Amino acid sequence: MQKGFVPFAEVKRAVSLEAILERYEFLASLTRKGMNLAGPCPFCKGSSGRQFQVNLVKNAWYCFGCKAGGNILDLVAKKEEVSIRTAALKLDSWFELGLVAKEKPQAEAPASPVETRAASPEAPPAAKEVPPTSNPPLAFTLKTLDTARRDS
Ligand SMILES: [Zn+2]
Repeated sequence: MQKGFVPFAEVKRAVSLEAILERYEFLASLTRKGMNLAGPCPFCKGSSGRQFQVNLVKNAWYCFGCKAGGNILDLVAKKEEVSIRTAALKLDSWFELGLVAKEKPQAEAPASPVETRAASPEAPPAAKEVPPTSNPPLAFTLKTLDTARRDS
């Protein structure tokens, strides 16, 4: 067992920023506009009501007051005042991701599923063996010659 292994990329993929904001009850104070959220910063609690910005598509956040931002791991690390690694461990535990305890040889699995595009098993057989074409009859040629000679 790789007990210390933390697959950051998988944790980030598994948990949405929205879910984190929900958990911290930050969501209520944010104004939603499409896939963007804005509101007072839960950290610096600055006077501006829009300094804390969230992009739910990118799962990214930024505070113009803190001049800090990042992904879900950064948010949890900031909120909990822990390292990114500990933040990932917390997320794994909170959302029961089961990513950390599992033994995984590699963290960065390809994002896109690998498509197994096997060559068509029913490929048409190679061109059938064509029987040799029979020799064209020579009769015509001979006949023409015959005619020509008779006309002269
Ligand atoms: Zn802030």
